[in-house]
Amino acid sequence: MSTLITNIGELVTNSPEPADGPGPPVAAGPGRPGEAAALAGAALIIEDGRVAWTGPASRAPAADQAVDCGGRAVLPGFVDSHAHLVFGGERSAEFAARMAGRPYQAGGIRSTVTATRAATDDELRANLRRLASEMLRQGTTTVECKSGYGLTVEAEQRSVALAAEVTPEVTFLGAHVVPPEYGDDPGGYVDLVCGPMLAACAPSAKWVDAFCERGAFGADEAAAVLAAGRQAGLMSRVHANQLGHGPGVQVAVAAGAASADHCTYLADDDVAALAGSDTVATLLPGVEFSTRQPYPDARRLLAAGATVALATDCNPGSCFTSSMPLVIALAVRELRMTTAEAVWAATAGGARALRRADVGHLGSGARADLVLLDAPSHAYLAYRPGVPLVAAVWQGGELVAGAVPAT
Ligand SMILES: [Zn+2]
Repeated sequence: MSTLITNIGELVTNSPEPADGPGPPVAAGPGRPGEAAALAGAALIIEDGRVAWTGPASRAPAADQAVDCGGRAVLPGFVDSHAHLVFGGERSAEFAARMAGRPYQAGGIRSTVTATRAATDDELRANLRRLASEMLRQGTTTVECKSGYGLTVEAEQRSVALAAEVTPEVTFLGAHVVPPEYGDDPGGYVDLVCGPMLAACAPSAKWVDAFCERGAFGADEAAAVLAAGRQAGLMSRVHANQLGHGPGVQVAVAAGAASADHCTYLADDDVAALAGSDTVATLLPGVEFSTRQPYPDARRLLAAGATVALATDCNPGSCFTSSMPLVIALAVRELRMTTAEAVWAATAGGARALRRADVGHLGSGARADLVLLDAPSHAYLAYRPGVPLVAAVWQGGELVAGAVPAT
């Protein structure tokens, strides 16, 4: 069964060229120099869950069924490469207090640890599924999900197993914060993370992560966790340089991590290290919005040649949004990214942060993950902040959210 998606006002492909040769490019289209990333008056064919063809609508081949987009924009599904969705409880009171003037500290994670340990499997599963489906309705077709609110062998194992029910991009984050019972023995906790906890979690996980920050884990501890994870077959990502200057980015780059996440406080050496490596700088501006902290300097990273991704960091403490459209709007307004850069970072950038070649773009052979906007161009995501513009979502070629008129 093939499906023709046609009459697309702007088709953002993030792909160097359409399968049917160069069409009329849209000057403002997302992408990087040299990439013809968007087409006007375009069409796309889905076959067996993959993108089989893109090009000018006038040259589209026949298909079994057709969908008329009415001149609206189609983008690759968003790739949210940083989220914490397995948790119990909520922290709205802490948020309200913070807005009333109390600063965010990493220790707030511990209150979610208490609630997560107390929750049943079904309670955690229901919360996780609710958030995952909320994300899908807002256009996120690939999501990474971390553990990190259990912090015992059993509770972390349960967290990664639950996360694996909703995504293959599961991250073991036993090194999120030192739990209270190890308060006077952080070294003992790192040994637990690198030993029995990792052994229990690795079968359900693809990634290992460490929160390298004052109040969480230092450079040597984080590096030890990443090295142990690598030995167990897990690829690395790091929570780095969120709350202040520190060694996180250097630890990430030295470990060959796919991504250094937050990157809010960077020294020149950190920017150079990111630019000279395959480690993606993943920016999470929803956190700065929700904690009223200074935003990261995206322009400095882009100017240096670093690859920038955008993600939500959806979690109950520092940022409880699941909305990639909001993150794009913040990136444009507050990080001074162009609309094209922000959309690229939220799709292709996220895919690079997860080392995925099959998502984040709509080149021939890509997984058919599509977002139809109720708008003529990608720019509307920032131009109309807070408006639910996602009209329909396809995942692997299946319409999974919203509706479109069939023709
Ligand atoms: Zn995080």
